[in-house]
Amino acid sequence: MPSVRATYYDGIVSRRRDVEISLHPQGVAIFSREGVLLTTWPYADIRRIEGFRGTGLAVTRLEPGSTAEPRLEIEDAAVAAELSARAPLTLTGAAGSRKERRAVVVWALASVVSLLGLAYWGLPAIAGRIAPLVPASVEARLGAAMDPQIRAEFGGPAGMKICTAPAGVAALAELVARYEKHADLHVPLKVVVVDNPMVNAFALPGGYIYVMRGLIQKARGPDEVAGVLGHEIGHVKFRHGLQSAIQSGGLGFLLGTVFGDFAGGTAILLASRTLLSSAFSRDAERQADAFGVDLMLKGGGNPEGLAGFFGTAGGGPPGALNWLTSHPASAEREAAIRRLAQNRPVLAPALSPDQWQALRAICQTTG
Ligand SMILES: [Zn+2]
Repeated sequence: MPSVRATYYDGIVSRRRDVEISLHPQGVAIFSREGVLLTTWPYADIRRIEGFRGTGLAVTRLEPGSTAEPRLEIEDAAVAAELSARAPLTLTGAAGSRKERRAVVVWALASVVSLLGLAYWGLPAIAGRIAPLVPASVEARLGAAMDPQIRAEFGGPAGMKICTAPAGVAALAELVARYEKHADLHVPLKVVVVDNPMVNAFALPGGYIYVMRGLIQKARGPDEVAGVLGHEIGHVKFRHGLQSAIQSGGLGFLLGTVFGDFAGGTAILLASRTLLSSAFSRDAERQADAFGVDLMLKGGGNPEGLAGFFGTAGGGPPGALNWLTSHPASAEREAAIRRLAQNRPVLAPALSPDQWQALRAICQTTG
């Protein structure tokens, strides 16, 4: 089925977007006008919005546990009819499943414990204690709510430009898959290269990792990019982004989580900005370094690249945040990385020369 134009509100940031949608066997795919896939809605989750005054059909998506109210307005009569035929489109709110209700109870308890704990230890310490209790599915939802905020921060109204040259995407995916195999993570990784000159990379809760084009260009070889990637995967592994979100979002965030209300955007926005602008603790950084070194030695790459990147990562556009803003270089850190890698053989290169060349060109697309 060809794509048609539609209007989309993601229910998280209050902005109208002109999008293209197409119907697939599993659901509706929603693309930005630049052709970037924004989301897909399974037919079973789609409900008609009654009382829509425009022509055509307005629908929303009921996501389990979420109170976000995204909205899609479709004027194309053929697609509207096709969608009506495929989706149940009833207005009845789905009653929460037993599993969701149990999650709410667990979260209510966690909140009470955190309120008590707050009185004793304060929020930063609580964040470290609460994070391990958060179900992976909740972290994934949090990441999914933060992702559009981050994209809006970086990309302006058109959104963040993700680099899509096929050979580069394939090289990156192959490296990520190798590391993921050894990382044993609670959430799947979603790694993208962003067309942005900053020498930077960061990880959100839920396995979202963004690598800026500037970092790849500045790197002296694949080991430096792979080292930064391994380090960021370490932040995912130890849920540092989640801890930071709990810490910056505070009780509002925790209570919002209990009620499944990630759309209460202020806490999410604050948490997203905090992640972008501030550093994790030194202990968290050391933990991520060690994990990155281990991933490289198991999945390919020379950890010297991670140590060496601290000497490389300066620069980028003036005034822009770069990786060193949140990852201060220290002789101690470099020495610790070299110590961890000592006497352990480098099994394989991070990328073949061809893959490295492709990754360097990932933002160069024609047409
Ligand atoms: Zn870090």
